[in-house]
Amino acid sequence: MSSCVICRRAHRDRGDAHRTACDRCEHRIRGWLREIPRQLPLLRASLALDGGPAQGRPAGRAHSPLPVRGDVLDLLGPAAPGPVRDHRGDQSGTLPVLATVYAWAEQIAAARGRDLPPFRPRDDYTRYIAAHLNYACSQVWITDLHTELGEAVHAARAITRTEPRRRPKDAPCPGCQAFALVEEDWQPYIECGTCGLLLSHDEYVAHHRAVMPPLYRTALRLTLHQAAHNAPEDEPK
Ligand SMILES: [Zn+2]
Ligand SMILES: [Zn+2]
Repeated sequence: MSSCVICRRAHRDRGDAHRTACDRCEHRIRGWLREIPRQLPLLRASLALDGGPAQGRPAGRAHSPLPVRGDVLDLLGPAAPGPVRDHRGDQSGTLPVLATVYAWAEQIAAARGRDLPPFRPRDDYTRYIAAHLNYACSQVWITDLHTELGEAVHAARAITRTEPRRRPKDAPCPGCQAFALVEEDWQPYIECGTCGLLLSHDEYVAHHRAVMPPLYRTALRLTLHQAAHNAPEDEPK
């Protein structure tokens, strides 16, 4: 067992390599990498100062020269090549999303001694990072990748108002028995908010099938018992 450099929870190494980050943190990053390409069109739609999804107005007014939002423009900045740290030095706010993604893809390629596939403007390199994430999760700099991608995603969500929905699940956690399992948009796993256990959707369905019928029966017995206990005595005439 070692502790995750991101969340500090204890986790098991996989057989193949020493892991610096736990599965839970890896899956969170994977969720962000899937979310970023979905956030970009929403960000572009939010660019106009008084339009876009953030204001809930229909698009239009194509002929009026709309001023654009500086915060959105910053996030949509070009994916300029260069190391992540240099970007941070001369930028006051959040780094542009694409520049952050590109710089991390470049860092991963350099660390692995490989050439980054040729830059294509429509390819934001989230898939490249996802393909090498297992490797990145055995490096100490995974904490920086986690922080910077997280900041980019949260800045985009704040503008597009697309916080992922969280749905509490009704079965208790099989690890700690707490009623704290939550399903979140774009995340591939259902996560326990108490012990951090991750369940795939199939695992949750199987777990639900196994534990819920006995739980319902117990709850029904308790309710019937309570009802019998609380039933008013016959009033004396
Ligand atoms: Zn972790
Ligand atoms: Zn748990």
